[in-house]
Amino acid sequence: MKVSCSNFQANVNYPINTDTEPDTCPRCHRSIHPKLLGAYAHPEKHICQLTYRCANLSCQEVFIANYATPLLRRDSETAGVLLSTVPLSALPSNFPETITECSPVFVQIYDQAIAAESHGLDQMVGIGMRKALEFLIKDYSCLEHPDKEEEIKKSLLGNCIKDFILDSNVKACAKRAAWLGNDETHYVRKWTDQDISDLKMLIKLTVNWIDNALTTKKYLSTMPD
Ligand SMILES: [Zn+2]
Repeated sequence: MKVSCSNFQANVNYPINTDTEPDTCPRCHRSIHPKLLGAYAHPEKHICQLTYRCANLSCQEVFIANYATPLLRRDSETAGVLLSTVPLSALPSNFPETITECSPVFVQIYDQAIAAESHGLDQMVGIGMRKALEFLIKDYSCLEHPDKEEEIKKSLLGNCIKDFILDSNVKACAKRAAWLGNDETHYVRKWTDQDISDLKMLIKLTVNWIDNALTTKKYLSTMPD
């Protein structure tokens, strides 16, 4: 299709390959056939911005699709290439109830770190993940050792994992997540072969093992031998 892009000088009929139209809403992340609202050219930036509205009735948010326009000119035959869709809303996390009840602040910080990532603030993500991990481990430790709450709150994360996490799987994954989390906050990295995706995976494993431990404990207490 061709869209008429208006700019300050003139209207430009600009071809857009319909195969490259956004098929996912950046606000609600559903698959969609978006409704085109308008198109605006930025010749000096070599982009054309198309405004769309999400067709999903429960969303209906407006968003912008940025197209590269290397040959932006009147009746150009070169189809635009979709670069990005903005604004991007972070998908809400879907942690199990055991985790949201054990450490609501962990969920809050983790979601903020993911939101930072969706806004391109990549340097903030690891720092947020490291803080989220500390809340998860300390809240879980306090749940397991209510009589040691003050000691747990004051302890360093590494010591807390060593002294108060008894489940061997939680301990092993949390320890490694803390190593990578600390790397995110320091000038020199110790773990150069690992990155933020490994930190996310280790936090996910830690969450899963804590969920297993808490769910198992619940069933053992409600259904004793
Ligand atoms: Zn939507």
